[in-house]
Amino acid sequence: MHLMAMARAGSPIDRLIEALRQIEGAYSLTCLTKNMIIGVRDPYGVRPLVIGKLEDAYVIASETCALDIIGADFIRDVEPGEMVILDGQTIQSLRPFADVPHKFCIFEYIYFARPDSSVEGRSVYEMRKRIGVELARESGVDADIVVPVPDSGVPSAIGYAEESKIPFDLGIIRNHYVGRTFIQPTDRIRHLGVKLKHNANRRFIEGKRVILIDDSIVRGTTSTKIVEMVRAAGAKEVHMRISSPPTKHSCFYGIDTPQPEKLLAHNYTVEQMCRFIGADSLSFISLDGLYRAMGEAKRNAETPQYCDACFSGDYPISLTDLNSNEIQGELSFLAKASE
Ligand code: SF4
Repeated sequence: MHLMAMARAGSPIDRLIEALRQIEGAYSLTCLTKNMIIGVRDPYGVRPLVIGKLEDAYVIASETCALDIIGADFIRDVEPGEMVILDGQTIQSLRPFADVPHKFCIFEYIYFARPDSSVEGRSVYEMRKRIGVELARESGVDADIVVPVPDSGVPSAIGYAEESKIPFDLGIIRNHYVGRTFIQPTDRIRHLGVKLKHNANRRFIEGKRVILIDDSIVRGTTSTKIVEMVRAAGAKEVHMRISSPPTKHSCFYGIDTPQPEKLLAHNYTVEQMCRFIGADSLSFISLDGLYRAMGEAKRNAETPQYCDACFSGDYPISLTDLNSNEIQGELSFLAKASE
C-alpha cells in the first residue's frame, strides 16, 4: 500500500504494477477496488492462484477446493507473472513483469495444498500417491503393514502400499474432535499434545512390522511421539518413511518454518535422526525421486524446475532483506506519513 501510495502513475492498476515491480519475493495477491478484482502471481509463480466462475461472476482463490466449496467452476490458473483484472464480465490479462524461470513451490504438492485441489493443472492427491510409489521404489523394507500418519500422510501411504504390495491400514486414528470446541483447553490438556491428536489403532498394529508414512520431519518432536506411541501399541518394528527430502533449510517465501538450527535435518544425519526419533529405520525420498514423481526425468541441478530450497538450499529468489538502518529509515518515513 505504501508503494502504491508513492507511485507516480495514475490508475490503481498502474500504481499496483509500479509498486509490484519494486518487490521481490513470493506472493499471490488479490485486490479489490470499487468495480474490479485484481489477481496477481509473482513472476516465479511460487504460490498458486486460480480463477473460477460462479453463475455470472468470476472468483479468485488460492486453490480449486475453495471453488468446490462455493459451487464455482474452475476456469484456469493465473499464470506466473500474470495480472488478471476481473470486472464482472471479462478477464483482462496483463504481463507487467520481465520473464523469469518458473519456480512453483514443490512442497505444495507434498503438504501445503489440499489433496482435493488441483494446482498447476495437476491433482494434488494423485501427485502424493506418486510420491509414495517413488518412496517405495527407493526405500522398500520388509514389513507387514503400511500405516499413514494422518491426515497428510494418507495419499503417499496408499501409493507406497500399492507399489510395495504391503497391506495398507489405518493404524493411527486422527481425533477429528480436537479443536472443535469453543472452550480453550487447559495447559494440562494442551500438554497431552500429540496423544490428543493421534491414537494408535492397537488391534491392527500389535505384533506387526510397521512402515509409518509421514510427509516431513521438521523439529522431530511429533515423529518421536508417534514412533513411541506405535511401539507402545505393540509394534514389533517401526520403519519411518518420509515423502519429502530432509527439511534442512528455512522457507523465506511465505511459509512459517522454524530457524534452520531448530530443524532436525539441519543438525543431524539421517542415521542420527533415526536414533533421535527411536525408529528401526528411517528414509526420505530423494530430490530426484521427488522430481520423478512430478513427471520429470530428474532434477535439473543448474536450473531446478521447482522451488525446492527448503531441501536443497538453492533459493531461486534472492534473499535481500533491508539492513537495519534501511528498516529504521522506512519505519520513520511511514510514521511521519501516517501523522
Ligand atoms: S523454500 Fe520450500 S516451502 Fe518455501 S517455497 Fe521453496 S519449496 Fe516451498
